[in-house]
Amino acid sequence: MMSTAGQVIKCKAAVAWEPGKPLSIEDVEVAPPKVHEVRIKVVATGVCHTDWENLYETGKGMKFRPFPLVLGHEAAGVVESVGPEVTNFSPGDKVIPLFLPQCFDCDRCRSPKTNLCRKNWANAQVGILADGTSRISCNGQQVYQFLGVSSFSQYTVVSDTSLAKIRDDAPLDKVFLLGCGVSTGYGAAVNTGKVEKDSSCAVFGLGAVGLAAIMGCQIAGAKRIIGIDINPDKFEKAKLFGATECVNPKEHNGNIQDVLVEMTNGGVDYAFECVGSPAVMTAALESTIDAWGMCVIVGWTETEAMNVVVEKILMGRKLTGTYFGGWKSVQEVPKLVDDYMKKKLKLDEFITHKLPLDQINKAFELLKLGQSIRALINLWPEENNPEVA
Ligand code: NAD
Ligand code: ZN
Repeated sequence: MMSTAGQVIKCKAAVAWEPGKPLSIEDVEVAPPKVHEVRIKVVATGVCHTDWENLYETGKGMKFRPFPLVLGHEAAGVVESVGPEVTNFSPGDKVIPLFLPQCFDCDRCRSPKTNLCRKNWANAQVGILADGTSRISCNGQQVYQFLGVSSFSQYTVVSDTSLAKIRDDAPLDKVFLLGCGVSTGYGAAVNTGKVEKDSSCAVFGLGAVGLAAIMGCQIAGAKRIIGIDINPDKFEKAKLFGATECVNPKEHNGNIQDVLVEMTNGGVDYAFECVGSPAVMTAALESTIDAWGMCVIVGWTETEAMNVVVEKILMGRKLTGTYFGGWKSVQEVPKLVDDYMKKKLKLDEFITHKLPLDQINKAFELLKLGQSIRALINLWPEENNPEVA
């Protein structure tokens, strides 16, 4: 095959032209990587609730981000070419792009207390790379890159600090899930919450993120794991991932937190909000036990406020949040891939649908209707890609 290194690549991408409108499949141009950048062929991507929210709720619960843009941030692919000064990647490497970088250099990266690397942060939030531009364009117009990634494109360019190199035998059509939802939920339980053996846990919202949190609680040895969702179709899968019981708030009069406090004789040790709703966040906090209850906010909303009754905190409950499950991304995502290969982590069970790129709006719809956990988007349907079974 002829090398495409150094050339502009023309390929297909799903472009979001404006908020609130479905994506449209376009021919885009992807420029070669600049200094410390890597161009990747995206093989598989998922649609995360955060993509949905950014398209349909931008400017509401989410900060406004410039359009047009290419969404998508949960993916896996192969390096096509590298820009100047890239030392850690070579063409052909299997990789997972990262919406949260790890530069190993900033004060955050040097601290064991956090995974919130500051490198390129402000730029990534507004859809541009380090030099202030994006590498994707459509008919000469710049198209912004969601969180510095943009995986709803057959090719994309990311910073070399926003990319994890993974083992050659990793199946890309499974491990793409470690680029966001599964790592986030799992890490919320084992890193942020630090769930202890024999504890009791409540997980609000049983999408991919919540199911992964349940998986984390189970691996940590929790004795009781209560799954909560207003869609009872999610309960069967929640039990497969380790929920010991499930509750539908709609089947109870009164507050769900009161139901949980009653069920657990005072409240759960850990609660995880995996919905993205301020009201559910308050319910999660209030469902924890006083003295040591820990509430972890995983759901993503940016500009809304949640209600916290001071006494809840005064009495020793802890309230915190997590971005990407606390994982230091470049270094720990490859280890999560190893854990999947060793069968410590489930991934296959999250994938409920497979769709080609041109049906990506269907994947958004399935997610919103609660009919899917994760739809795998195959970016190369016509290629009979052996990587996507
Ligand atoms: P999803 O849409 O697949 O799942 C959300 C679930 O919440 C659905 O099953 C829905 O029925 C349920 N739900 C809705 N309202 C509810 C209520 N009032 N009570 C209980 N359950 C309710 O979404 P997902 O992809 O699993 O993502 C979940 C959340 O995590 C989103 O807010 C997403 O933006 C966020 N997220 C955060 C990070 C992070 O780094 N913190 C990363 C990825 C996703
Ligand atoms: Zn850093």
